[in-house]
Amino acid sequence: MDEDEILLEIIRDLFGKEKHYYASKGQISINCPYCDDGKNKGNLEININEHVYKCWSCSDSNGTHGVLGKLIDIFGTKNQKKTYDIFKPEEHKSKQVELKKLKLPKEFISIKDANPLHIPHREVLKYIKTRGITDEMIEKFNIGFATDGDYGGRIIIPSYGMDNEINYFISRAWFKTKNKYKNPEYPKETIIFNEKLIDWEKPIYIVEGAFDSIFLDNAIPMLGKFMSQHLYKKLYENARKIIIVLDPDAWNDAERLYHKINCGKLMGKVWIIKLEGDQDIADLQGKINEQNIKQLD
Ligand SMILES: [Zn+2]
Repeated sequence: MDEDEILLEIIRDLFGKEKHYYASKGQISINCPYCDDGKNKGNLEININEHVYKCWSCSDSNGTHGVLGKLIDIFGTKNQKKTYDIFKPEEHKSKQVELKKLKLPKEFISIKDANPLHIPHREVLKYIKTRGITDEMIEKFNIGFATDGDYGGRIIIPSYGMDNEINYFISRAWFKTKNKYKNPEYPKETIIFNEKLIDWEKPIYIVEGAFDSIFLDNAIPMLGKFMSQHLYKKLYENARKIIIVLDPDAWNDAERLYHKINCGKLMGKVWIIKLEGDQDIADLQGKINEQNIKQLD
């Protein structure tokens, strides 16, 4: 097999048969593991000559773009990573390990410190009230916003690591726009959102988004529909009880996740809840029917 065939085989093993393959350009399109959700759109393009990838639909919101090694690090097995390392371009090796320290946007204003007479602040407070976000949540998560810059017009939820330093943040527009979410270019799979707030002794809710996580006590957002290896390892080592609560449109993903993590040391410690209707945890403002929390066969 030549290099292209080996790379193609790894990609097929990970994501199934591609939607298109233009051999002359080394261009492959596959269904994006973050946003396709069974729609079979083939939005994620991989170029195996250039060793890069990008999802045309969710690269801004999910950071789904970069060097191919990143994609294989996230989804690949140990062996696939090893194989890929043989082909990985030299200049990408450094790119992957180089992680600049993330900072909050310089325009970030913490809501608790904001001037209540300032018009944007009043807009933010109005929005936050309609979403059911309380003063207690604002304080606990240091929720803020920006009025200009890259994140202007957006509510920002920072994530703090165990060292109390910023390690990620998510932002969501408070007005109607095409790109509701905008997140920093940083490999989110390397962090656990607001890990310092997690009590591993208590039941841990696993939710999709950061906006869901603020409504439940002791919740970790996966920042998508898939669990990172990093989060899985942390749960495996530390969790006593896990409750999976994904969005109603992601029941299949939730079930898959349940069976994936309900094994070994976690066997019997994993629970799941199916939300009725089409509202997610944030829409429901954290009101879930505890009686619907169950275990699967
Ligand atoms: Zn995508």
